[in-house]
Amino acid sequence: MPGMTNTVSTRLLVLGSGPAGLTAAIYAARAGLSPVVVQGIQPGGQLTTTTDVENYPGFRDVIQGPWLVEEMQAQAEHVGTRFEWDHISDADLTQRPFRLTGDSGTVYLCDTLVIATGAQAKWLGLASEEHMKGKGASACATCDGFFYRGKKVAVIGGGNTAVEEALYLTNHSHDVTLIHRRDSLRAEKILQDRLFAHPNIKIIWHSEVAEFVAGGTPETLVGLDLRDTRTGAIQRIDVDGAFVAIGHSPATELFKGKLRLDSDGYIECETGSTRTTIAGVFACGDVMDKLYRQAVTAAGTGCMAALDAERFMAAMEFEALQAAE
Ligand code: FAD
Ligand code: NAP
Repeated sequence: MPGMTNTVSTRLLVLGSGPAGLTAAIYAARAGLSPVVVQGIQPGGQLTTTTDVENYPGFRDVIQGPWLVEEMQAQAEHVGTRFEWDHISDADLTQRPFRLTGDSGTVYLCDTLVIATGAQAKWLGLASEEHMKGKGASACATCDGFFYRGKKVAVIGGGNTAVEEALYLTNHSHDVTLIHRRDSLRAEKILQDRLFAHPNIKIIWHSEVAEFVAGGTPETLVGLDLRDTRTGAIQRIDVDGAFVAIGHSPATELFKGKLRLDSDGYIECETGSTRTTIAGVFACGDVMDKLYRQAVTAAGTGCMAALDAERFMAAMEFEALQAAE
């Protein structure tokens, strides 16, 4: 009927359907909390954008990212999770039940909220970069480094992530090049020391990527055209893999001014827990973790969030009982 608002009420609402949100849902459903998961515009999360996953425990053979999250979703459904195909665009966390509004117009009321909205890697924004994603351009060395065993790789960026990725890639490659747009790194000194001391890493300063260069059949990355940021001169380097490591953006726009975020926009949680600065609101996965950003760590903190939420509700119910006595 026109004018009628669709309202969904639940004890536990999960925002996001990546490994963090789905694991939180599995645990919450098995605790009898009948969770509702709002899937967002990327059902299944970041793993749906990749192919081979070789580091998720439990599978000796290579598995596919989309398959892994489909299985997690099926498991969550099987134990009693309800899924909503919606994207949350407004959140009122000032009182319980918390009130969230979806793009669909549906209003979600919940006693506890688990935020698992993830983070997206920042890319340079070149058309040739977009074209080479999955064919040599990557934003995750831990995920894809293994595919470049014995090949030439480059890392773009000058922060902790870029330096860590360059060091990590030396496990697979004897020819790693770090490309940075200035002449000094932003990374911590100890990481810089390790980088400079490594015999298999070279650094190209004052340079940015002008183009990702494709070649061969089937087409793969064969090089990068680099632009000198001082002179504009272009030089080509041969590489088989290029890892863009210029930072991530956590999906926390919705919570600015409502929850405490750190200087990079990640949700701050109490150390060793998923509790945010609002009682009853929990965060898990990449949205609160800028260090590890792995499917297994996202799943791990998803489990923690469901357990934290369950304990929070049990404590509230106990208090309510005592007050009634
Ligand atoms: P995400 O997977 O980012 O999911 C976020 C969810 O939140 C999405 O479902 C989205 O729709 C939803 N959402 C966002 N905003 C809203 C909103 N406002 N309302 C409702 N929903 C919302 N890790 C590994 O361990 N091994 C690998 O091999 C591996 N390979 C990778 C390959 C690629 C190309 C990429 C990009 C990442 C890879 N990772 C890998 C990293 C891994 O995918 C992430 O660490 C993991 O997906 C994080 O899970 P998450 O649940 O925290 O968030
Ligand atoms: P970051 O610190 O923001 O560094 C991003 C780097 O990418 C900078 O060197 C920046 O250059 C460069 N860059 C940004 N946009 C670019 C563009 N368009 N073209 C070329 N280069 C570009 O990001 P991060 O390294 O991902 O780290 C994010 C946060 O996580 C930081 O707080 C970091 O300390 C933390 N972190 C910590 C650890 C650890 O403690 N071990 C590990 C990883 C991350 P400029 O320097 O010129 O700006």
